[in-house]
Amino acid sequence: MIGIVGGGLAGLVMAKELAEAGKRVVLFEERPNLGGLIPAGRLAGVSVDFGADAYTRRNPDVTEYIRSLGLRPILPNGRSWIYDGDAFPIPANATCGIPADVANPDVVGLLADPARVARDLELGPEVGAGATTMGELVRARMGEELMEKIVAPIVSAVYSIHPDRLALDPVLGANFARLGTLSAAVAAGLDGPAIGSIEGGMSRLPLRLAQLARAAGAEIRTGAKVVGLEPGAILVRDAGATGGAAGAAGVSGVGEEAGVERVEVEHIIVATGIARAVGLLPGVMECEPIEIPAGRLTTHVNLALNAPELREGPRGSGILTKAGTCRAKAISHMSHKWPWLREASECEFLRVSYAVNEQVPIAHALEDASLLLGVQLREEQVRDSYVLRWGGALTPSTPALREWAAGLRVPSGVSVVGVWRAGSGISAVLPHALAEADRILGREPGAGVGGADAMPTGSGVNRADGVGASEAGVDRASETALDGASGTAGVAGGAGEVGERR
Ligand SMILES: Cc1cc2nc3c(=O)[nH]c(=O)nc-3n(C[C@H](O)[C@H](O)[C@H](O)COP(=O)(O)OP(=O)(O)OC[C@H]3O[C@@H](n4cnc5c(N)ncnc54)[C@H](O)[C@@H]3O)c2cc1C
Repeated sequence: MIGIVGGGLAGLVMAKELAEAGKRVVLFEERPNLGGLIPAGRLAGVSVDFGADAYTRRNPDVTEYIRSLGLRPILPNGRSWIYDGDAFPIPANATCGIPADVANPDVVGLLADPARVARDLELGPEVGAGATTMGELVRARMGEELMEKIVAPIVSAVYSIHPDRLALDPVLGANFARLGTLSAAVAAGLDGPAIGSIEGGMSRLPLRLAQLARAAGAEIRTGAKVVGLEPGAILVRDAGATGGAAGAAGVSGVGEEAGVERVEVEHIIVATGIARAVGLLPGVMECEPIEIPAGRLTTHVNLALNAPELREGPRGSGILTKAGTCRAKAISHMSHKWPWLREASECEFLRVSYAVNEQVPIAHALEDASLLLGVQLREEQVRDSYVLRWGGALTPSTPALREWAAGLRVPSGVSVVGVWRAGSGISAVLPHALAEADRILGREPGAGVGGADAMPTGSGVNRADGVGASEAGVDRASETALDGASGTAGVAGGAGEVGERR
């Protein structure tokens, strides 16, 4: 029997793969719903993604895996824009505004001195060769104006960090070393849209995995919080249908303490966020104490609007703001970005993001959306809304945390998966969990999809690479508003967030 702690993406990938390979599997998820940081909720009668709505396409195997599950991968519609007092579209054929072609009209048109960008083609390869940050390389090759006018607003909005502090992406650095100009290095890394999603929403992914895992015989228990680990045993509280359900799956459960069930397993898989993992892991391995960095503050105001004036997507798939220029950090125009959503409803769907952990009034979101989208939106146009505070759910992946995670000596009989082990985002979590399933099964690495080493785990292009779930309690309102019924098509539950419907 293999016991899995956590029913987010990592835990569910493992459950599905191991069960389909004939292993007996039991998965414990403390929340009523599965999916972790990939939840959906109902807005104006439609199931929409409330958490991750996309994955980075840097590893084609991830798209193939999604397809193999019977889900339909899709690409986003429209470009993103930047607001720095003025609104402008992120240049096409570029990475973070760094053009693959020095004559790119989107870039040239925004600069007083475009010739400085073109000097990239004349400079020797030694210029910028020692750069360790993106800012350093861009300045050296293409000049200060491109950096401050275009690259810095984009990078600051996407990664919440100035390019002078953003470590040079290893792939971009390697391409520059190989090709000798920055524009050629960018061109070599471009391959269509940076992100993709799934028809019907990203939240279909965990739900489908759970469905397939169950079909292969895995037992998945929601509302089952793991309170401790011991070598060969998982301690679970309020495990719903203990006895019966456990017995059916062959779990030998012996209640030792009121309400706590001891489930004996041969292999333990910890697939929780970092904050919970640090509490659980010392039960089965030696673990240096680590201070968990404070999570990024994020509040999302999800809006469904009667707003035909947004139908053409005045700011494409959405807009990111330069710090200090607007209260809101970003807007995703969800119904323009994902065409299936537009087909599903007459409403326009917006997600307005704030770098705070507090209730944001709907009136603020409407004012900010009006400013950023260039369209006057009024309160009476709001059909439905849902404000979601992510608390500390988005733990930054600091060097200290990465070093600590990489240094863990995980004993046999234990696996540790999930975003804080795998690197940032879905495109790192999924192959890492698959590689671990291969390892447990003694399968050739990559039997499912490219293994953990098959892709860089540095900074992705998407902006919300969360690490670890918040351990803050979820209030009841958010649980019910987040479409509680686990297993209902298109609806997964949230992890660690606090939400409120207007
Ligand atoms: C708002 C938002 C937007 C995002 N956007 C993107 C994006 O566009 N692209 C992208 O690639 N990534 C994005 N991400 C990140 C992505 O969602 C995560 O990296 C990924 O889903 C993490 O999966 P996981 O399985 O590692 O962890 P989680 O999803 O955190 O799952 C862990 C699970 O363990 C459960 N658990 C914890 N403790 C216990 C316990 N003691 N007992 C039982 N169960 C427990 C939790 O309830 C949770 O369900 C986003 C995240 C957020 C929050």
